[in-house]
Amino acid sequence: MQVTGEPSFRESVDLMFNRAAKLMDMSPGLEQKIRVCNSTYTVRFGVRLRGKIETFTGYRSVHSEHMEPVKGGIRFALSVNQDEVEALAALMTYKCALVETPFGGSKGGLCIDPRQWDEHELEQITRRFAYELIKRDLIHPAQNVPAPDMGTGEREMAWIADQYMRMNTTDINGKACVTGKPPHAGGIQGRVEATGRGVQYALREFFRHPEDVARAGLSGGLDGKRVIIQGLGNVGYHAAKFLSEEDGCKVIAIIERDGALLDPAGLDVEDVRHWMNGHGGLMEGYPGGTHVADGAAVLEEDCDLLIPAALEGVINLENAARIKAPLIIEAANGPITFGADEILRQKGCVIIPDMYANAGGVTVSYFEWVKNLSHIRFGRMQRRAEEARSRLLVEELERLSADQHLGWTLGAGFKEKFLQGSDELALVRSGLDDTMRTAYQAMREVWHGREGVEDLRVAAYIVSISRVAQTYRSKGL
Ligand code: GLU
Repeated sequence: MQVTGEPSFRESVDLMFNRAAKLMDMSPGLEQKIRVCNSTYTVRFGVRLRGKIETFTGYRSVHSEHMEPVKGGIRFALSVNQDEVEALAALMTYKCALVETPFGGSKGGLCIDPRQWDEHELEQITRRFAYELIKRDLIHPAQNVPAPDMGTGEREMAWIADQYMRMNTTDINGKACVTGKPPHAGGIQGRVEATGRGVQYALREFFRHPEDVARAGLSGGLDGKRVIIQGLGNVGYHAAKFLSEEDGCKVIAIIERDGALLDPAGLDVEDVRHWMNGHGGLMEGYPGGTHVADGAAVLEEDCDLLIPAALEGVINLENAARIKAPLIIEAANGPITFGADEILRQKGCVIIPDMYANAGGVTVSYFEWVKNLSHIRFGRMQRRAEEARSRLLVEELERLSADQHLGWTLGAGFKEKFLQGSDELALVRSGLDDTMRTAYQAMREVWHGREGVEDLRVAAYIVSISRVAQTYRSKGL
């Protein structure tokens, strides 16, 4: 979505970069080198479908190769264009640097409405697109590793991995050519929920700092906070589900493509999603809450926390002044335009920026890539050893209690929990939680400690750009 008078998405990302670069001590040459997008490959290919040849246009853009492989999702949407993939590739560079995943930034996209094609047709199209990218090393375990994004998921990633393996039959690391695969095809537990889970961990970390919470004019923890979520896709659904089921948030509105559902008492996210799955993705007719046709207007409703989890540019010059949320977490990439960001900041709104907020996906992708390269599931070697050690301790405590007539009994549920070694999902969540906490603290240090830094976005850019610059410098640039 581009409102008249606003820069394009890529320009918006560059302007945000410039705001941070101004506060840094970098040579103009290095600054320009980091800002620009290294390359964008456009591919047009034909697939014979329904008796005729259909031509598709796709892109793979590489923003920065300061580290390789480069990383970033592949989006299937009719709105895909070169400006968008370049903006998203740039955000991947900064995102990866911020959460310390050892990748450069990349992004891909195919102009297609996936709903128009059946599964078999989509497989043909995806495999053909993958073929075009693989033969140019634009999908490769050591050079460029895609992942899911809007309109794609485990199924498409499995096709891409299989296509790569058909074309590289002796590559023992072939499965690492793409992440977000289903667990039975080389994926990892917890990847599907990862981005939404990351949003939850980001918010938990934010609320651990009362000083930061106060900047948004809020107080207390997440419990009871009124949340508006835009987009109940993979990211929005998981974020809303975890925040409401585990942190006591009240989801007072859900905005989707057919309008919004409102309920001041809180909506049951799981139930709404279930309804949508059975009704072609539409919420209208849902027997709970109130349905409002003008979904965009609901972004402007009173709430404590707004979570845009759909498209870029949804908060723009046109509506920014009317947004009431004191705290926004960008679960989507680029939901707030450069101009809107300025208006919101002036109003005192705290924005937890995309490159941090939605980095959970790429973080768990990194774990999957490492798992593929090491050819072993996380926890396989340690889990039972860990359990044996815990058992030893519990049995010793019980023996002592009996021998000394101390009468100790371990608390209900404690023994079971303590004796359980960590499986892959527990390890993935732990690694993700640690990543989100560490990255927040790095941003926060700059936010509070560096002259001229007013907001978390600039702080995030400063942390990322410094790390990318450091890598370039040590390469002799
Ligand atoms: N598409 C996701 C993103 O925008 C995930 C990328 C990845 O896992 O490589 O961050």
